[in-house]
Amino acid sequence: MHPMVKPALRRGWRDLNTVQFGMAPAHAMVLGPVDTATGSFLDLLNGTRGLPLLRDLGRAMGLPDGHVDALVERLARSGLLDDATGGGRAADALREKKAVLDRLRPDLASLSLVARAPGDALKHLAARRSLRVQVRGAGRVGVVLASLLAAAGVGQVEVRDIGSVEPWDVAPGGLPSASIGERREEAARRAVRRAAPDRPPRTAAEGEELGLSLVILAPRDGLAVHAPDPAVAEPLITSGTPHLYAGVVEGTGVVGPLVLPGDTGCAGCLDQQRIDRDPTWPRLIAQWRSGASHQVPACDLALATGVAGLAAGHALAFLDGRLPSSAGARWESSVPGFDWHAKPVWSHPACPCGAAEKSKKGERAAEDGQPHETMAVQQPHAARLSGTWRAHV
Ligand SMILES: [Zn+2]
Repeated sequence: MHPMVKPALRRGWRDLNTVQFGMAPAHAMVLGPVDTATGSFLDLLNGTRGLPLLRDLGRAMGLPDGHVDALVERLARSGLLDDATGGGRAADALREKKAVLDRLRPDLASLSLVARAPGDALKHLAARRSLRVQVRGAGRVGVVLASLLAAAGVGQVEVRDIGSVEPWDVAPGGLPSASIGERREEAARRAVRRAAPDRPPRTAAEGEELGLSLVILAPRDGLAVHAPDPAVAEPLITSGTPHLYAGVVEGTGVVGPLVLPGDTGCAGCLDQQRIDRDPTWPRLIAQWRSGASHQVPACDLALATGVAGLAAGHALAFLDGRLPSSAGARWESSVPGFDWHAKPVWSHPACPCGAAEKSKKGERAAEDGQPHETMAVQQPHAARLSGTWRAHV
């Protein structure tokens, strides 16, 4: 192990014996008491030295025996320590690709704030390289989103769409103006390849399809995100494929829900929820779906880019094994206020996806007074994340 104080957090001394790691409250931490000698020793924990050498240097600085190990242990327990040599085989392989790792260095530093154990940040970053994500829709949101995922280290990002690139599909970070008139899928594939830090290693044997870790539905027509069609999502629900919605409808950007089939509210749940609230919803939605518009749909470029960025963040958090706030919720933002707010997508008992049944079981367990089981059921996603949903990682 080559211990390294996580460089992502800026250090500051609150007084002679108390050191604060980090500025922003989300990840900042205060450590104390720390004596002056230990304080200067912290500078040596920069990932260039192994423990035996650090112990020698500590002794030379007058630190008592065992002090260095205790300090390293304390920092690791607080989530402040990384290991410049840890993370396993995939991490070692990525470390050897210096140019690639340099591209991803800020992302690695950010990951180190949530992957707490030493070596875990690079392990997660390297794991992204073996994932396959499909983005459906090559418009202003879809291609930017796909490019972001590829640039953040996701190994295989494929974009699905039909037709040719129109002038209004062009977006910074997405399809370039030179691609107007080309096949959307082909243009999107090139954009994604340009964004990626390198060509990722082939993990599946030739001809063998790597399982999809996530499907992102980012249609050019935002109606399919505002009012997602349960029939379209049905194969994803049946196959248990996690999927996320992202798009712009009129002047509103939408990110979510992230659907973990059978666990969190899906397109069908959302549909039922709306029918409960508004009996005329089916009539409206039928008109919207049948009246194919030949107009160029409204889509604020900044809003579309914001949607792509937020959705990519939620997708990456999920792929890294976390549960983003779009699971069971939709984040929405409208022009010109641009304030993001979340609306819940409850699982619905009339939806065949089974998520409501599962949460009901949780409630029953709570009534029976079984706190342990209740806790497990109240966090089904977290439980599944460590099991089924992480299967592709
Ligand atoms: Zn459902």
